[in-house]
Amino acid sequence: MWRRLLKLRHIARSFLFCRIGMGNTCSFWQDNWTGWGPLILLIGQQHTRLTGIPINATISQAIQHGHWLISTRSRNQLISFLRSILPPADSILHPSNMDSFAWTAGLDEANFRIAPARFSSSKTFTALHPHPPKVPWHKSIWFSGRIPKHAFTCWVIARDRLPTRDKIRRFSPQVPSICVLCHSAPETRDHLLFSCLYSHFLLISALHVIPPDLDFHSILQWLPISTADSSLKLIYHLLFQATAYLLWRERNARIHSMTSRPSSQLLKEIITTVKAKLLALSRSIPPRDPSLLQVWFRLQSSSSHVINPFTFTTNHSF
Ligand SMILES: [Zn+2]
Repeated sequence: MWRRLLKLRHIARSFLFCRIGMGNTCSFWQDNWTGWGPLILLIGQQHTRLTGIPINATISQAIQHGHWLISTRSRNQLISFLRSILPPADSILHPSNMDSFAWTAGLDEANFRIAPARFSSSKTFTALHPHPPKVPWHKSIWFSGRIPKHAFTCWVIARDRLPTRDKIRRFSPQVPSICVLCHSAPETRDHLLFSCLYSHFLLISALHVIPPDLDFHSILQWLPISTADSSLKLIYHLLFQATAYLLWRERNARIHSMTSRPSSQLLKEIITTVKAKLLALSRSIPPRDPSLLQVWFRLQSSSSHVINPFTFTTNHSF
């Protein structure tokens, strides 16, 4: 175990900062004491000889009569660069203090020169694995009141990580390419959600409205601006995610269990699931006027803009 830990020294090294006291233990070349990291990594070991400062010199040994032991006349670019980043030699040593090392993960430069040297595992983890930039569809997936398994599936879809047949065929060409929902086009993420006629009409039947663009990412961007009514917006989000989740489940059932359901059954399940969620939410959130369920029943009583030719089909291929 210790050997494994020792192998991580090069990572740990980047988080250590030396605060100079007497300067008799901090290595001029190997330790990070300027904020630029170990100077040897900047200059290169083979070039340290040019400066005249020995490879094992401490800070105090690199200073003589208040000046760095580096030629001021040299025009070598590396030496000029080194001179430009070194702090003034006459004020860096503090003979009454010992040199000390601080753990800098999670601290900015202004703080790690003065903050207490405390180790934080969470800040270290974040420094090693920084958060990726926020994506514009973040709130359309992780909204308050979501159904976790639906949101997770939508997140996987948004990341384009669904194992759709186009991806599987890259390493297993014998796998059929055809979409098992409509049997009329190759299965891709964008086809399944929502270019496929089966999923296209199922989504419109569930939402009772036609989004301006029927591809997955366009709908994610449309959802936050779909309506000014916050209750209706929440319902649209839930319906959309339930539709995507059940479509993916239906696709898997057709491939792996050889069972299929008409889209009318999927629509019923979407409505039942979202209604149950709204019932639970309406008990846990402050009362609204109109209530969530009133908005829900109003939406359900409105007629869809499009007649879904597959919703009430008895043909099991749809
Ligand atoms: Zn299809």
